[in-house]
Amino acid sequence: MPLTPEQQAEIDTLRSQPQETLRTVAPGMERHLYTAHPVLDHGFVRVVDYMGDDAAICQAARVSYGKGTKSVSNDEGLIRYLMRHWHSTPFEMCEVKLHVKLPVFVARQWIRHRTANVNEYSARYSILDREFYIPAPDALAAQSTTNNQGRGEALQGDEAQRVLRILQDDAMRCYDHYEQMISEDGQQGLARELARMNLPANVYTQWYWKVDLHNLLHFLRLRADAHAQYEIRVYADAICAIVADWVPAAYKAFEDYRMGGATLSSSALDCVRRMLKGEEVTQESSGMSKGEWREFMGVIEP
Ligand SMILES: Cc1cc2nc3c(=O)[nH]c(=O)nc-3n(C[C@H](O)[C@H](O)[C@H](O)COP(=O)(O)OP(=O)(O)OC[C@H]3O[C@@H](n4cnc5c(N)ncnc54)[C@H](O)[C@@H]3O)c2cc1C
Repeated sequence: MPLTPEQQAEIDTLRSQPQETLRTVAPGMERHLYTAHPVLDHGFVRVVDYMGDDAAICQAARVSYGKGTKSVSNDEGLIRYLMRHWHSTPFEMCEVKLHVKLPVFVARQWIRHRTANVNEYSARYSILDREFYIPAPDALAAQSTTNNQGRGEALQGDEAQRVLRILQDDAMRCYDHYEQMISEDGQQGLARELARMNLPANVYTQWYWKVDLHNLLHFLRLRADAHAQYEIRVYADAICAIVADWVPAAYKAFEDYRMGGATLSSSALDCVRRMLKGEEVTQESSGMSKGEWREFMGVIEP
């Protein structure tokens, strides 16, 4: 369960005490504030705080005294222009602070995104909960035969049961030992900062993660992508849904130019021009490597 009844009660209390403010309020984001969106078996993402909205991006771009808004269509056009031309600083004027609960092996991938501020739950100070990520049956997959950095079909029948049992037994055994090392009647007990080293990488941790919109979109571009590991992708997908409600125009432009768009090299562009003129271009005549050609064809003939 992602939240205990006590944690849910705290969130409900916060949501029942709205305050008046002169600050920018994004109605779509207000709906998400404090609410925990479940991810994986015990994880969640929730918005703790945010700053700015679509208009704040335009306000910064125009260095305006007022709200910066001209009209919705005018603002949307400006946001699309900024996104198209990689004018990133106006997007940095919006920020979001998230509370994320995630398995340690996912946190290791996530923390590689250096352009954010992080504060993690201290397993030196506190005792970790007995919560481990155990994949759902469709996520319990075999090693991919075509991609060294990926997975293939879901395991079936006895093999799935055997793997699941190992994962569950190991997690429980390690946690039992963790507890035993920390405190045994009549003994000193091992420090928490040392006892934790015996826990598997599927144990859950939590952190506050604050990031500006420009760097958040960069994170989402990489982690809400089919190449990203499923377990981090589901967090990125949950954040995408939140961002779409927070800054709808910026998110639409991001979907169009970044998620749905593609960058072409000058040799790839040259091939497109030759193809438009009716020339039959092959990998051999393209000047591209086999890998580049495969990716290029994936873009123009998906
Ligand atoms: C599908 C996938 C597979 C991956 N596989 C591996 C892997 O096998 N091994 C591995 O180690 N990593 C791997 N990574 C991590 C990847 O290499 C990046 O470290 C990670 O995606 C963070 O990207 P970033 O540096 O652009 O993000 P951020 O750290 O958020 O940085 C954003 C941008 O800021 C700039 N920047 C930030 N810090 C600096 C700096 N110190 N110097 C210069 N510019 C900076 C860069 O322009 C950077 O793109 C993988 C990532 C993905 C998405």
